[in-house]
Amino acid sequence: MAYQTELTAGLAAVRAASRVCRSVQARLATAEALEKKDKSPVTVADFASQAIVCEQLMRALPGDPVVGEEGSDELRQGAQAALLDAVVREVASERSGDADEVLSWIDRGGADASSARYWTLDPIDGTKGFLRGEQYAVALGLIEKGQVVVGILGCPNLDDGAGGRGALFAAVKGEGAQRFPLWEEGDLGSVVRVSDVTRPAEARFCESVESGHSNQDQSARIAAGLGITQEPFRIDSQCKYAAIARGDASIYLRMPTRADYREKIWDHAGGKLVVEEAGGRVTDVEGNPLDFSHGRTLDANRGVVATCGPIHDEVIAVVKKVRAEG
Ligand code: AMP
Ligand code: MG
Repeated sequence: MAYQTELTAGLAAVRAASRVCRSVQARLATAEALEKKDKSPVTVADFASQAIVCEQLMRALPGDPVVGEEGSDELRQGAQAALLDAVVREVASERSGDADEVLSWIDRGGADASSARYWTLDPIDGTKGFLRGEQYAVALGLIEKGQVVVGILGCPNLDDGAGGRGALFAAVKGEGAQRFPLWEEGDLGSVVRVSDVTRPAEARFCESVESGHSNQDQSARIAAGLGITQEPFRIDSQCKYAAIARGDASIYLRMPTRADYREKIWDHAGGKLVVEEAGGRVTDVEGNPLDFSHGRTLDANRGVVATCGPIHDEVIAVVKKVRAEG
């Protein structure tokens, strides 16, 4: 199997980061934290997650650059000493290092997406879901010459299908998608496949909880145009891609809310490959493939449409029609 070293390292890194995020979120879900609307816990978990993933990748694959969402500039300011302390404490549950080491791990995620091969990381995708005590993902992708070749999604709050929470998905290009236990080690996964829906009217569609991230008026009109009567399944983060990959939903609509917004590579790399390798299709709202050869953003694309596959062209036709109507 190709990319075995990368897959093993990526799974271990995402599992370790997921453990830290879970413990921060558990503490955050107190009445006191919710009342204060205190965003610092998510900031702590974001930095800690990036530090852990970068440190693990650096040890396993020292030559690989990482393009992460976070940078350490804010943390390096003297006024943020307490924040830095908290990050160092969280990271220590997986790997101890002093403040300088932890900062250097975070900085390993500062590559600029210009090399032929790099990882891209969203240490907590769906921070709004994380703050609400809901869904989020630790999302990792390996990009080679503009192609995503490994994708990994840690989903600490997603139901595990057995009454518990936590699911881990991974795909290697050309080799299918698998799910793994999130809270145990091991590379032995089970195959995940998209739903077998062949008529759009039977599809359940998913979209962002946040109306600022996806135009929900348009998606409602698209759903109506496709004859869909089920309510949208609203879920934060790349858990939407996981939902498509394992057949919980058959369409993911991410309709642009602003003409100037460009999707970030770390918001899609991991999820896109997991869906494609589970048998689905992923394009932008025009039906064009997502193009990961433009640096940190998907500059050539607008929005995202992911489906279980056979219905994709029909869905895109209605998406285009509704967009043309404004
Ligand atoms: P979701 O959980 O699917 O709503 O997506 C969360 C991601 O949306 C974040 O990681 C942001 O990078 C991204 N985001 C922020 N603003 C926008 C926007 N205007 N349109 C689309 N995505 C956005
Ligand atoms: Mg994100």
